[in-house]
This record gives sequence, structure tokens and C-alpha cells, in this order.
Amino acid sequence: MASVLSSPSENQVAVSATKLLINNRWVNSQSGKTFATINPTTGKEICQVAEADAADVDIAVKAARAAYEHGPWRKTSGPARARLLNRLADLIEKHADELARLESLDNGKPLSMARHVDVAATIGCYRYFAGWADKVMGKTIPIEGNFFCYTRHEAIGVCGQIIPWNFPMLMQAWKLAPALATGNTSVLKPAEQTPLTALRIGELILEAGFPEGVVNILPGFGETAGAAIANHMDIDKVAFTGSTEVGHLILQAAGKSNLKRVSLELGGKSPNIVFADADMDKAVEGSHMALFFNQGQVCCAGSRVFVEDKVYDQFVERSTARAEKRTVGDPFDAGTEQGPQVDQTQLDKVLSYIESGQSEGAKLNCGGGRVGDKGYFVEPTVFSDVQDSMKIAREEIFGPVMSIIRFKNLDEVIDRANRTVYGLAAGVWTRDIGKALAIANNVRAGTVWVNCYNVLDTAAPFGGFKQSGIGRELGEYGLQQYTEVKTVVVNL
Ligand code: NAP
Ligand code: MG
Repeated sequence: MASVLSSPSENQVAVSATKLLINNRWVNSQSGKTFATINPTTGKEICQVAEADAADVDIAVKAARAAYEHGPWRKTSGPARARLLNRLADLIEKHADELARLESLDNGKPLSMARHVDVAATIGCYRYFAGWADKVMGKTIPIEGNFFCYTRHEAIGVCGQIIPWNFPMLMQAWKLAPALATGNTSVLKPAEQTPLTALRIGELILEAGFPEGVVNILPGFGETAGAAIANHMDIDKVAFTGSTEVGHLILQAAGKSNLKRVSLELGGKSPNIVFADADMDKAVEGSHMALFFNQGQVCCAGSRVFVEDKVYDQFVERSTARAEKRTVGDPFDAGTEQGPQVDQTQLDKVLSYIESGQSEGAKLNCGGGRVGDKGYFVEPTVFSDVQDSMKIAREEIFGPVMSIIRFKNLDEVIDRANRTVYGLAAGVWTRDIGKALAIANNVRAGTVWVNCYNVLDTAAPFGGFKQSGIGRELGEYGLQQYTEVKTVVVNL
């Protein structure tokens, strides 16, 4: 089924894959149900997509199990897996512009970002893990007695992978690439808001030549298909990115079912700390991007901006001016910095946080409302005089809303930065190496950025302390989430 759709700015995007991918075939769901995916720029339906539920998850898990235990995949060598992953990366590169348009259409992110961030990093992720596929090895261990002891790092088995809507294509790559590099099979559920690029990449996975049952892609809803994955007795590992609330449910489901391995990448309320001695031009622009990038829909967004007393007023004034200049509009327009929020729910949620900021007494410096009356656009919003106890300083807003908070000294800001259930990331802006390293050592977060923000690389691990998650993705650490260690002892 192919349909051609036009976005508001007449950009044509062909949608070719709308069904479930199970055992290398495109199929309708058992129930026959479909659901609409919406263009957030207009609020209108793009197309209907097959809706997976527990029955479909069962069929996909059987296919993934068969592929893992008896299929050619089990005998596929590391170098052969590397070739498949590299072939997939090449195909994504060949279709890069088309994939970027599809991502912008379904998610609302500016096309230039989709192309130069999401698609580029997706290709990089598959290539990076292709490089590991033939370098997954154990150790030889000198144990007591006349024995030869060694370890093997083996695939865990069937992985259930549940991903969010903020970086749909990239989150798929973060999940599939390390799982496949290490020889696992996957049943992956994209977010209900953004199934289209996951499915299009499914077509490219078939073209690349992955054997039957290795990758299964099941669009559907979290409470049904997602819960079926988390509770499944024959899934060996579940990897989830999304809200902390659902992260709790995933861990409970694993505990109640088969103790499947769990890795979680969850929410954050990351402190971004600006000292008075910082390069103010860089701190203002860097803090702006730290918060507003991707419509503010970033788990590691620098959403608590702590600014030292002496430069507070100046920083607020300059950050407000920068936010007022931010161009909000059609994601397909070249000059657009900010597109719509992903859906009506997120729009309503962000607007309600803005209301709470005002009612709790924060000062609204700019923004605060919706842009236009169609689509889900929000004005870039800056609050100052924000207190730690306010809802906007404690909860994840996941939108273009900056909260600027005043602090006086190093020890105080470390304590306040840590007073959160989250621990995903932190930023610090200073010319004083002592202050920078004091923050890096004492703020409890999975990543600390010094005089930069949102610098992610496929080689560097990413993940959270505390309720921001369990385990790390990317890099060699990310690879470890997809293998079991087996000890072999041979009597000599
Ligand atoms: P979410 O509910 O946590 O969704 C993430 C994924 O989990 C989606 O695929 C979702 O399916 C699925 N899911 C939902 N309920 C589930 C369940 N009971 N069992 C198994 N899977 C389930 O996130 P959201 O509703 O899209 O966004 C809510 C908030 O989560 C955001 O405002 C933000 O704070 C946070 N978030 C964080 C990230 C991140 O990168 N860490 C990304 C997105 C959102 P559906 O598509 O059907 O919901
Ligand atoms: Mg959509």
C-alpha cells in the first residue's frame, strides 16, 4: 500500500510500510485493527497503521525465538553480522533525505535536524555497532588447579524493545544495533505517535538481507502491545526508553514474569549550572540549545538552569532575548528552529505546566502560549525567579519551557542540583577547572557536560543514575547490556 501525502509546505513524502513486520513478512494484526498516525504540524491523519496486541506479540516472539535457536542467525558469524549491519547503514544513507522527511512529517521536528542529527546519528550507530560485531570476546582466567577457564559473551536471546517518539529512528538504532551486533533477535514496538520511520527501516532491514524472524516490528499501544512484551514469558530481555512512570511498570512486569533482563533509559530534570566566570555568550547559547533542542522533547534537556547570583539578571535578560528570536514554524521550512510538539496530549501537558509556573509565582519572561490554532506549536517560554519547590523545577515538562533558578555558591548548588529523583545528565559553564570538576565529581548524573551540552556520541555511554534508568546504552558499555557471560571450565 503506497500513498503520497503532502505536508503543509507541499513536501511530498511517500509512505510505503504500514503493517506489522513479523518473520520477514508484512502482515495485518490478528484483530485487523489499525490506528491513525497524526501529522503534528496540522493535526491531521497521515495514514492508518496496523495495531499490534498480545496475540501479535506472541507470533512475533515465536518467530524471534525460532530465529535465535534454530535459524541461520544462530550460525551467522560476527563478520557476517557486521556486513549485514553495514549494508543496512548504507541503505539508510542512500535513503537519507526520504527518511528525514518521513521523520519530520510524523514527529514534527525540523527537517534539517532530522537529516543532520537523527538520520546522520542513526547511520553512525549502525556502523559503530557493526564494528563491534566481530570483536565481542571473553577472557581466559587463570584459576586454581589444573583447569582451563574462559568466558564467552553470548547473545541473551529474544529482546523486547520499546521506544519513544522523541527520536523515533535514532532510538530504534540505539536498540537494534547493539542487539543485532551481539547476535540477539528483536521484537520492537515503536511509539504510537511515530511508527512510520521504524516501519520504513523495516523494509530496508529486509533489503539488507537479515534472516527471517531476526527483527520484528510491531506498532501498537503501550498498555496492550507494550505490556505484552514486558510481561512475556519467552522474552529474555526488555530494553525500554520513555517515562520513569512506565519504567517502573516494565521492571515490575519483568519481576512478576520471568525475571527477564531489564535496561531502562528514563526521564530527567537535568541541572545546567552557569557560574559567573563563564564565557557568557557561549553559556547563553549553549543553555538555550540545552533546553529548546527538539522542541524541548529531550530526556537529558537542561531543564533546571542554575545561574550564579552575580550574573543572574544579565543571563535572564539575554536568554529571554534569545528565546524570543527562536523561529517556530513548519518543520519543512528551511529557517525553522522549532516545530510542533508531538501530539495534543503533549501540547496540553506543556501548557498546563506553564500555567502552574505562573500560579506558583514564577516570573514569565516570554512565551507562555500556543502558537496558531492548528498543529501543536508552543511559544518558546522562559521563566525566571523559579524556586526549587515549584512543579516546573521538579517535574519533567518535555517542552520548550526554560526555568532559570538563582544560586550563590558551589556547595549549595551541588546539593540543590542533586535534590531530585532523576540523574540523567548535568551541564556546567565556567572557566575555573576546579569548579567544573567539582560539579563533574559530585553531581549524581550519568553524563556531565563541561562548557557544552547534548554532546552525544555512539562511542560514549549514555544512561541514568537514580530513577533516570538502569544500565547504559551506546559504546562498549551499551554492548554489555546485550550479552550474558558464560564461564567454561575444562579439566586438563
Ligand atoms: P511513555 O508512555 O513512557 O512511552 C514510551 C514507550 O513505552 C512507548 O512506546 C509507549 O507506548 C510504551 N508504553 C507506554 N505504556 C506502557 C506499558 N504500560 N507497558 C509497556 N510499554 C508502554 O512516554 P510518553 O507517554 O510517550 O511520554 C510521556 C512522558 O515520558 C514525556 O512527557 C516525557 O516526560 C517522558 N519521555 C521520555 C523520553 C526519553 O527519551 N527518556 C521519551 C519520551 C517520553 P505508546 O506509544 O502507546 O505510549
Ligand atoms: Mg505522528
